[in-house]
Amino acid sequence: MSIPTERVVAMEVILSECLGFCYGVKRAIKIAEEHADGKSCTLGPIIHNPQMVERLKAEGVGTVEDLSAMEEGTIIIRSHGVGPQIYQQARERGLNLVDATCPHVKKAQLSAEELVEDGRQVIIVGEKNHPEVKSIFEWSQKRAVILETETDAQNFPPCAKLGIVSQTTVSGENFVRIVAHLLAKSPDIRILRTICTATDQRQKAALELASKVDVMLVIGGRNSANTTRLAQLCAERCTTHHIETAAELKPVWLDEADKVGITAGASTPDWIIGEVYKQCQMI
Ligand code: SF4
Repeated sequence: MSIPTERVVAMEVILSECLGFCYGVKRAIKIAEEHADGKSCTLGPIIHNPQMVERLKAEGVGTVEDLSAMEEGTIIIRSHGVGPQIYQQARERGLNLVDATCPHVKKAQLSAEELVEDGRQVIIVGEKNHPEVKSIFEWSQKRAVILETETDAQNFPPCAKLGIVSQTTVSGENFVRIVAHLLAKSPDIRILRTICTATDQRQKAALELASKVDVMLVIGGRNSANTTRLAQLCAERCTTHHIETAAELKPVWLDEADKVGITAGASTPDWIIGEVYKQCQMI
């Protein structure tokens, strides 16, 4: 008797209801593509996705890490934004600056600036090393204090006037928990909740799907913080694999699965999601 090696019932592949590029990333890539003339560069990778960075390079948009690397041409500011001194430096170097900062990030930057001008000690709730948080910090005239955890907030000293903004991608729950510790620190607090809903929507949809399937595939750059977070959340519900491209997908992962869910970070291009989806359907 031969041993059956093929599936009797087809595996169901389900895409998350909210996945892939967010508004700010779509906008930044469109702006970059409109300036694909061989003389334009983004300051830092346009998004945390190496495949998209390669594609843009082939289209004529390079990447520089520092303005000093450019003698002429167009410098494109990515969705995470930069501090005011970069705008100044670009002007001094005679570069054409195209600003693709996400409007939600811009709002957080200007909120930090406004709070400092109002004489407040500014607090940014977010990840210290994230480029967006660094840019908000710069707009606070480098005076803000960045708090990542509830312990950071508990240890924060009392002060007369406090102003709080958030990294756009922090979770609403985390923001509320950290702010709760700060309420006792000052009699005069202004809270500007500069959170964007794109991350929350992706996380909620991914968690819902991860509760219904046997295996989750989370697609996105390994250097993408929001993709890594999606993978961590899904792993709390079911077996989860974080992959960058379809080439990393191992059929053996899906051997026992009846249902496979797919989600992707806010910086994962549609074409990569499509390739993974197609490959799953062929298994
Ligand atoms: S996650 Fe939100 S704030 Fe960040 S780039 Fe996307 S739309 Fe803008």
